[in-house]
Amino acid sequence: MRTEARVWAHGEQQRLWTENSTCRQAKMFLKGPDLAVSIERRDMHYLVGLKTGHVALNRHLKLVGIKDNSICPLSSEEEETALHFLGQCPALATIWKRILGMHPLTALELGKVKFFNLIRFAHSSGRFITP
Ligand SMILES: [Zn+2]
Repeated sequence: MRTEARVWAHGEQQRLWTENSTCRQAKMFLKGPDLAVSIERRDMHYLVGLKTGHVALNRHLKLVGIKDNSICPLSSEEEETALHFLGQCPALATIWKRILGMHPLTALELGKVKFFNLIRFAHSSGRFITP
């Protein structure tokens, strides 16, 4: 049953990907919807959250009233925005240097980082591990 549902969902995604005339930019970068299917749900959550800023980083948590302090807990240098976390935080520099060989990263450079490297970075940071 689960396999049938997966096969059906994959077929529907392929059909919608082909028939839908929207998503021009996504279609420019992705060959099809397979990438979305192969990404774990938790990793997709991180990706969307990091791209939109709606992720469990202190700036967002302060905005939604969960935390009082928006400062980065790793470097204590500035607000923990998605940009700070992903490209600017000196406490995470060694992870990016290991993955991409560079740090810091601008927003423009981060836009070019492959999805799997963003996921790898998010996991390596240990920032989203809940006790
Ligand atoms: Zn920091």
